[in-house]
Amino acid sequence: MFTHYYTEGVILAKRAVKDADEIITVYTRDFGKLDLIGKSIKKNGSKLKMNTSLFSLAEVGFIQGKSCNTLTDARLISNFKNAKKDLGRLSLLYRMSETILSLVHGEEKDENIFLLISQSLRKIDGFKISKNKLKLFYCFFSFNLLYFLGYKLYIEECASCGSKVESSCYFNPREGGVVCKDCFSKEPAGIYLEEVDSLRRFLENDIRSVKEQDSKVFVDILENYLNYIPENSGKQ
Ligand SMILES: [Zn+2]
Repeated sequence: MFTHYYTEGVILAKRAVKDADEIITVYTRDFGKLDLIGKSIKKNGSKLKMNTSLFSLAEVGFIQGKSCNTLTDARLISNFKNAKKDLGRLSLLYRMSETILSLVHGEEKDENIFLLISQSLRKIDGFKISKNKLKLFYCFFSFNLLYFLGYKLYIEECASCGSKVESSCYFNPREGGVVCKDCFSKEPAGIYLEEVDSLRRFLENDIRSVKEQDSKVFVDILENYLNYIPENSGKQ
């Protein structure tokens, strides 16, 4: 007898395989990232297909096989249809999913990551967001994902020498945090930060309280930092 497993998950990606089968990548609450094979799922009217549309939250049932897990049941919890109707928000969902897929490898449960993904989707679905705020959401999401994966940004003191940093300092992606002026003069690489507290405040909040502010510096820091993350297989 096969054991059936049930868990909640967010559908991150789908790819067609032979016949009408599809491999669905889901970030689940109880098992982390899973690939599930949906047998004959592309056939018209498949209930599994309707309940596992891209970027939906669903309860999925599956059985574990030798080489793959087979999707057996799916019950839609939310398909976040507002977020998908809007091109800006939809492209944010694609970017978030690409970031997860390039940083998270293998199956490992992490409920914090599941909650980060599902709460972000709820928030993005909630209301129309300005272009700038979409970028802020993306940065917030990615910094938090990196944090849960063990890549905390060092922003309390100089990541290189440990001394106190002044309000204006530099972000050094190789050090994974801010560096003081002395360390920057020894290794002049990184991004100038006018006010380190704005970065601290940004990272301390939760997704519900991301406030409208200039996103440029956060985008620069994130993009630079991602280039130094070894797991980042999706590097451009
Ligand atoms: Zn220093």
